[in-house]
Amino acid sequence: MILVAGGGPAGTRLAIELACAGLRVTLVDPLLDPQRNAYSSAAIPLDDANKLQIPHACWSTTWQGWQLFDPDAIEHQWWSSDDLGVVLDFGNLRQSLWQQACSAGVELLSGWRVMLKRLHQQQADVVLLGPHGQQECRSVRWLIDATGSRRALLHQAGVPIDKEQDPLLCGYGVEWLIQASDRGSSRWRDRLSFFLGHQWVRHGYGWVFPMAKDQLKVGVCRLPPHDSAGGSAGLQQDLIQLLLRCGLSDCPVLDRHGGVIASTVRRTEPLGAGALIAVGDAASTANLLGGEGIRHALSSAFLLAELLTGQADDDSQHLLNEYQLALKRHLGFRWAISGRLARRTWWGLDSDQADRRMQRLISGLSRTASAHDLCDLLFHYRFERYGLRLIPYLI
Ligand SMILES: Cc1cc2nc3c(=O)[nH]c(=O)nc-3n(C[C@H](O)[C@H](O)[C@H](O)COP(=O)(O)OP(=O)(O)OC[C@H]3O[C@@H](n4cnc5c(N)ncnc54)[C@H](O)[C@@H]3O)c2cc1C
Repeated sequence: MILVAGGGPAGTRLAIELACAGLRVTLVDPLLDPQRNAYSSAAIPLDDANKLQIPHACWSTTWQGWQLFDPDAIEHQWWSSDDLGVVLDFGNLRQSLWQQACSAGVELLSGWRVMLKRLHQQQADVVLLGPHGQQECRSVRWLIDATGSRRALLHQAGVPIDKEQDPLLCGYGVEWLIQASDRGSSRWRDRLSFFLGHQWVRHGYGWVFPMAKDQLKVGVCRLPPHDSAGGSAGLQQDLIQLLLRCGLSDCPVLDRHGGVIASTVRRTEPLGAGALIAVGDAASTANLLGGEGIRHALSSAFLLAELLTGQADDDSQHLLNEYQLALKRHLGFRWAISGRLARRTWWGLDSDQADRRMQRLISGLSRTASAHDLCDLLFHYRFERYGLRLIPYLI
């Protein structure tokens, strides 16, 4: 019996895979409606959308180009003749995964929350808290923490979520879904737009992503250094400024949401203890450079499902070690480099000097890189060919 806490992409994908392999699985999420709190911008590369079996019904639109606004608000563009990626409708993605889970035989408890009571080596005792104050105790062989950046169960179990030499880095994001007109959306269609420089967002960046029906996701994210004050304070103001500067401030706002993205750089923290294992964002799979994690969350679910279904012995620690290793292999050595780059770039983006550095980098990319090269850089973390230029960001 396996209980998955968290019905996001990681938890639901894992539940589906386990149920399809014939295991008894319960999936629990506090959301009553999968369309609520669709907090993610949900842009992913096309290859991954196909490889990770993301249903076309969740694709809001495809994109073929990149548009970067540098610190002086100069626009740089890179275009490809074919699709580079998709922007998903995150609510539809959750809904579609929940439907697949039910069809696969998963017991879905929506509106419920999981609380850990006792953790043993081979068993976890939990209390399920229902939407009307109900309480139900259960004991399970495996308890999965798929609660995203909250890491609710790891915290409850007292599992250290980071180490002094590899601390958790947090990015805070706020995003509005707005309704533009056909004409108003044309400048943002078919491309991902980013705004880079401390006058746009201090210690972070802004974005405009296209959606179907002339809707746009406009957001800002900040990854401040540990010693700076107020992680998410003032973010909403930055977003309002961005909308103003983009000429989008009159568009009706359809939804306001936000969230936290949090990972360690080297991913050396334990991914569980005893009968508890983390998956997705809770296992530090979110990438801090581009603030994206859906595809990594799904991949971690596939990897963990393979281990849980192919488990030859009943040794929890052995499975945890295997999982840690499989994830490390999957994410590769570039992962840690991208984390260091993210820390260096976003922590340091707070001065004119940092803006000039960013401007040089964007101008260099403008001269030498193609749209596919940018995908290689931001989605596959292939930094080699930019070695010398990136050194100031790494040291
Ligand atoms: C502003 C913002 C923009 C982003 N944009 C992108 C992007 O463009 N592309 C991309 O790939 N990624 C993006 N991400 C990251 C991406 O959304 C996450 O990496 C991804 O959703 C992680 O999936 P998950 O299943 O691990 O966690 P989540 O999607 O966070 O799911 C966790 C689930 O756990 C549930 N939960 C919480 N507590 C409990 C409990 N006690 N018991 C049971 N359930 C619980 C929650 O309700 C939630 O449904 C963005 C993140 C933010 C914050």
